[in-house]
Amino acid sequence: MSDAGQPHHPVRPRWVCRADGQPWPCPQARAALLRDYDGDLVGLAVHLATMLHDAVRDLYALDPDDAPEPAALWDRFLAWLDRSRRRAAR
Ligand SMILES: [Zn+2]
Repeated sequence: MSDAGQPHHPVRPRWVCRADGQPWPCPQARAALLRDYDGDLVGLAVHLATMLHDAVRDLYALDPDDAPEPAALWDRFLAWLDRSRRRAAR
């Protein structure tokens, strides 16, 4: 799938990227979120926690037998932010 000109936004209820079809937030979406929040990592974490909550609800409603494990969703939505913060602090 081409990502030319498409914003890297989630397509619900599957939570894949509209531009490239990867699990959202894809690397480009993560970079855009970091730019948009401009150092407000607490604000970004709150936003992502809200997205995580919505994704869990959507994915388990869609197919509870095929939904990602909660730990995998945590890593996908929030753990990357902590890794980014630690990289930025070096
Ligand atoms: Zn994307």
